[in-house]
Amino acid sequence: MFLQKGMLIVLSGPSGVGKGTVCSLLRHEQPDIIYSVSATTRKPRAGEENGVNYFFKSREEFEKMIKEDQLLEWAEYVGNYYGTPRGFVEQTVQTGKDIILEIEVQGALKVKEKYPEGIFIFLMPPSLAELKNRIIHRGTESDESLMNRLNAARNELQMMKHYDYAVVNDEVSKAVKRIQAIIEAERLRKERI
Ligand code: 5GP
Repeated sequence: MFLQKGMLIVLSGPSGVGKGTVCSLLRHEQPDIIYSVSATTRKPRAGEENGVNYFFKSREEFEKMIKEDQLLEWAEYVGNYYGTPRGFVEQTVQTGKDIILEIEVQGALKVKEKYPEGIFIFLMPPSLAELKNRIIHRGTESDESLMNRLNAARNELQMMKHYDYAVVNDEVSKAVKRIQAIIEAERLRKERI
């Protein structure tokens, strides 16, 4: 029987918009979707585990992954590298399972060049002021990193037009429901094709 490929879903949006929180709840609500674990050169935060939250790498290790074409996309984001291991994504899609990538905007646009058939979802803050609040309250960033992340967020908001969907993250549970509705609709659309 012809095995239909899985969907590649990209959840993106500015830093601090709550992608991580939304993704965790979505993961809980929608265990049939596989989550891609990224590689990064940033240091682990308290509670983060290697291989679970990220694959934590040195700059040398990461640059080797780039050279060996092991990454589907990668980006340098406020001084660190972040990238999606290619093999895992390709295998998952080939076996007919849906996979979700939670990545920043530059990387999402690179994935779009390679997988235009992917589903691209942009998570929006209710406002820029709210975004600043959320980054400050997370309390994990230095003043410099906070400023850099806010500047990046302003530019990232301009990129919304390249996405299929924009979902406002006013309340995590509501945002997750909206994303689930998108996934459900896209699955039905695919069945029809
Ligand atoms: P954080 O340091 O807060 O975990 O992540 C910073 C930013 O990097 C977030 O916007 C996050 O979505 C993004 N990010 C995480 N993994 C990847 C990845 O594999 N590729 C890209 N391009 N961005 C990523």
